[in-house]
Amino acid sequence: MRIQQNISLKPYNTFGMKVDAKYFTAVDSVDSLLEVLSTPEAKNNPVSVIGGGSNILLTKNVDGLIIRNEIEGILDTIDIGDYYLVKVGAGMNWHQFVIYCIHQGMAGVENLALIPGSVGASPIQNIGAYGVELKDIFHSLEAVHLRDLQQIQLTHKDCAFGYRDSIFKRAYKNQFVITSVTFKLSKKASYNISYGAIKQELDAMGVKELSLVSIAQAVMNIRNSKLPNPDMIGNAGSFFKNPEISEAEYQTLKKSFPEMSGYSVGNGFIKLAAGWLIEQCGWKGYRKGDAGCYDKQALVLVNHGLAQGSEIYNLSEDIVRTVHDKFGIMLEREVNVW
Ligand code: FAD
Ligand code: NAP
Repeated sequence: MRIQQNISLKPYNTFGMKVDAKYFTAVDSVDSLLEVLSTPEAKNNPVSVIGGGSNILLTKNVDGLIIRNEIEGILDTIDIGDYYLVKVGAGMNWHQFVIYCIHQGMAGVENLALIPGSVGASPIQNIGAYGVELKDIFHSLEAVHLRDLQQIQLTHKDCAFGYRDSIFKRAYKNQFVITSVTFKLSKKASYNISYGAIKQELDAMGVKELSLVSIAQAVMNIRNSKLPNPDMIGNAGSFFKNPEISEAEYQTLKKSFPEMSGYSVGNGFIKLAAGWLIEQCGWKGYRKGDAGCYDKQALVLVNHGLAQGSEIYNLSEDIVRTVHDKFGIMLEREVNVW
């Protein structure tokens, strides 16, 4: 274990922001994590955890210790009849985990193929795509408290998952390092192709019989065609959450904007596509300097090269304001701003 000083975080965030961390280290086991957390650098400074850096916007140098979680691998698999419980190191790459499950015939994660980042970050915002969320396959997790080093296990209920939300964005914000996540994966697939784009892509691929591989491949094809590859254009995926409004508000808005789509999320609330709202305000493809709004999906803000975090943030402020002016809806950021 070595704590480095004044390290550039550019390789560690998918927006490609050039900021430095006062202290930086990587851990590959719970023991090395406990060792790091016992050092003066950890005890006397703010401590933050990163995985793949694909959901953060760095707006300034980090005056503290950054711990990169590199606890890797499939740690345990238990057969419990119709399901497997699979315990995974928090530092494992999410997509590699999805590929592993598909090869093993473990169902449930296939719609979440190609989401960047680490397994350990997946519960933080209850990652989701194409009608599946982490909470649908989550069993439990293990974590270490950053200050008192207490090791805890949290169940599904403890994590209080919501739409792109969990206890780690609220009461437990910046308090724990997740060290492993255990998933409950099915031996029998029940394919979710509720999103029209998947059906269309499966048709285009000529798929006659659904399989874990064909669904994951369809998801990968769509994502590769619509989303910017962070290796080519800096970004952190969707910058904002999709807003949810009451059915009554939706019906009122629909009178002014008949082409607006909404999806029922139960309890009389409707989810709107934030990307569509942003596009209607004319932002799609916008660029000022190197900060921009992606031309194939307005929900994604991009760094074309040398944009600073503050420029991306200011653009997001302008977007929030114009969407509010036009639709009366306040967009909420999904990306973690540091
Ligand atoms: P980081 O960005 O490193 O960290 C994110 C947050 O989690 C930070 O607050 C960090 O402190 C915390 N954190 C990270 N690891 C740990 C840990 N072990 N313990 C405690 N806290 C931790 N998200 C979706 O939900 N659905 C998508 O479809 C999706 N598509 C994307 C597409 C692209 C092109 C990109 C760039 C991003 C996309 N994202 C998506 C966002 C992102 O990939 C996910 O949120 C992912 O889970 C972030 O993982 P990470 O390891 O990169 O987290
Ligand atoms: P899309 O298919 O163009 O759809 C636009 C929005 O409408 C999506 O955000 C989605 O909400 C919603 N939607 C579409 N069909 C739906 C249905 N049948 N039922 C309920 N909601 C529906 O979206 P996209 O931008 O290409 O993204 C595709 C999927 O990947 C989405 O699930 C999206 O969340 C996910 N994604 C997430 C990120 C991220 O960083 N968070 C980045 C890229 C893609 P939901 O977002 O709630 O699913």
